[in-house]
Amino acid sequence: MKIERKLHEECAVFGVCINNCEASGIVYNGLLSLQHRGQEGSGIAALNGNKIYCHKDIGIASEVFSNNILENFPNSSMAVGHNRYSTTGGNTIENLGPFITEYLTGRIAVAHNGNITNAKEIRDKLQNCGVRFDATSDSEVISALIAYYIMKEENSLKGIIKAANDFTGAFSLVILCGDGKLIAIRDPDGYRPLCIGESKSEKGIAVSSESCAFGGCGFEFIRDIMPGEVIVIENGGITYQGIELYKKSENSGLCIFEYVYFARPDSVIDGLGVYEARYNMGVFLAEEHPADADIVCGVPDSGLEAAAGYSARSGLPLVSGFVKNRYIGRSFIYPAQSQRENAVRLKLSPLAENIKGKRIVLVDDSIVRGTTNKKIAEILKNAGAKEVHLRISSPPFRFACNYGTDIDDEENLIANKISIDDIKTKIGADSLGYISIDGLYKACSKCRVSFCAYCFTGDGANKKVRKNELE
Ligand code: 5GP
Ligand code: MG
Repeated sequence: MKIERKLHEECAVFGVCINNCEASGIVYNGLLSLQHRGQEGSGIAALNGNKIYCHKDIGIASEVFSNNILENFPNSSMAVGHNRYSTTGGNTIENLGPFITEYLTGRIAVAHNGNITNAKEIRDKLQNCGVRFDATSDSEVISALIAYYIMKEENSLKGIIKAANDFTGAFSLVILCGDGKLIAIRDPDGYRPLCIGESKSEKGIAVSSESCAFGGCGFEFIRDIMPGEVIVIENGGITYQGIELYKKSENSGLCIFEYVYFARPDSVIDGLGVYEARYNMGVFLAEEHPADADIVCGVPDSGLEAAAGYSARSGLPLVSGFVKNRYIGRSFIYPAQSQRENAVRLKLSPLAENIKGKRIVLVDDSIVRGTTNKKIAEILKNAGAKEVHLRISSPPFRFACNYGTDIDDEENLIANKISIDDIKTKIGADSLGYISIDGLYKACSKCRVSFCAYCFTGDGANKKVRKNELE
């Protein structure tokens, strides 16, 4: 059985341990606030005595937990949840999180964000020991190895640390253990974010992919979990915290694309607000690529903050160019090119009065295949725009990621195939400017940890795993 390589890198995880019996409801609220990180599937696992009750299905959280499904959950003080990232394939229920592994002496539920690169090797070893696998996901392998070591060590914390030392790649994990511990761990590079919040009203601790989820659940952001750090939560309080995993390679770190696109603007990751980062990107973009134009428009949603920064620095007024239909899913994931193009047209409707006769600076966060911006330039021109000057708040996206974006093949990255000038022509823009990698680093300079920018530079630990065994 092949392990899917491009499945669920950009998922959301959320867990809570609190001194009441509302854990499942809190996790549900957390998942609603983290929906932007994955819309393919959603699941919650709650501790029920020393058993685990779980419901997961394909769809967004509000669909998966409609029809009073939450009411069937046990009263529980501890639960974990997972939103799975959208992709074009492998969308089966077996691949949804959280993953539950039962073993001789207990059980765990694991919510994972990231992608480990030695899953096949680990799975082969476990299969030789008689372990059975149902899914094609690396998260199932993670859960199985953790269970194996917990059993061997007869201790959940020791087992988790031991297993985590064997994983290579990206993992932010929240693990519900049948012995009453909620354990969170972030890989030593810190590829994916993970942070801690505290309940304002009751004794309780939550762990989330992003800080934006805390407010809506009645929690307050305390701090990020550091790369390599483990946190143990019991009876609503932290009982252990410490750095247990150490970096094996330099030139790796937090995925810079979290600031460019993935995360929500009201999240703060590793000391830097996502809004601030994107705004700064717009400021430096305006310095690097000024334009002779009348107005600035951002592409909703992820281009809006950089557009504000561009407008502020250039002095050009920021104008709404589109109305976005919020009831349509992501256009990026449709399998066929024609479907993707139609979806963009459905999703973004031009505000003709604002753009007619105008020379527009159009700011977007990234160009991946080039579908979106080609369509958007066309929409603007059809609505009467005189010129469209496209500005991108990340550098040309040239290298397919093992830990991040849902691109299976570098062939699909337009910046990898043709020159910037040809991209401009293909998109139908009057000019095209990308922020430089230095500009991007400058925009994110307040971040406290190092970055992985492999998708833009082709440098870093990511490169070494390209030939690895996950294919
Ligand atoms: P394109 O049409 O060029 O392939 O898509 C680019 C747009 O998709 C970007 O403006 C960005 O907002 C969004 N995008 C970039 N990376 C990803 C990703 O990994 N997943 C999804 N769903 N959207 C992305
Ligand atoms: Mg976009």
